[in-house]
Amino acid sequence: MLKKYLLFFSVILCQISGCATVQTGLDRQESIFITTPQEIAIGEEVIQQIEKENKILNNPVLTAYVNKVGQKLADVCFRKDIEYHFKIIDSEMINAFALPGGFIYIYGGALAAMDNEAQLAAVLAHEIGHVAARHAVKQLQKAQIYGALSSILLKDEKKTIAELSNIAANLVFLGYSREAEFEADELGIHFTTQAGYDPRGMLEFFEKLKQKEKREPGKLELLMRTHPYTSDRISKVESRITVIEKQGLIRNEAEFKRMITPLEGKY
Ligand SMILES: [Zn+2]
Repeated sequence: MLKKYLLFFSVILCQISGCATVQTGLDRQESIFITTPQEIAIGEEVIQQIEKENKILNNPVLTAYVNKVGQKLADVCFRKDIEYHFKIIDSEMINAFALPGGFIYIYGGALAAMDNEAQLAAVLAHEIGHVAARHAVKQLQKAQIYGALSSILLKDEKKTIAELSNIAANLVFLGYSREAEFEADELGIHFTTQAGYDPRGMLEFFEKLKQKEKREPGKLELLMRTHPYTSDRISKVESRITVIEKQGLIRNEAEFKRMITPLEGKY
């Protein structure tokens, strides 16, 4: 019965706001009624809150480097209607997250725990995967349907954006579904491979997480709250990495280590 109502509401919302069928997975299309400009506006609202509560690392060289790696991955991503932005949060936490609209944040603690560019690419590609699959947008759509918010019906867009960005800000700390996380891992492997990176970077990073879970669990609190068990992610990712022994896969250990020198001993 509930499903019927949800379908009814989504059909109505689609009719009123104009739905677009877009690619949200490697071979999947879905109906999306929150438009890209709306998604970006929601993301920009959430940024205000995130950057009020978190300190952004002031290191232009390292930030430019993270952006360079991120853009390389964005170039091979199927979602092209937004720009991807990458910032570093100055905190020892080992985590990363993506806001609606392509705004991606990685914590300094995560960078400090890595030892090559392939691992960084894996984490950024996972976050790009959330954006490409429109996980935040889909959760917002669901929230909107459940609440049967009338703002879209009333065409009060400002109010809609404000309401949705409140929900979106909470989503960052509540996390997505397990399925969405596994999908972001899968997309992450795809993007890293397409961009020429060694996809084993993702497995290596998961192994780091497992070590840290034992030694410094405090740094992983956010990540563990929002992501499935690392061992479950490892077994899924292992089964998806196939063509590995290819010459010339990017790992860039030396450059990566040089770039993160300013973080040495910081966290
Ligand atoms: Zn995730």
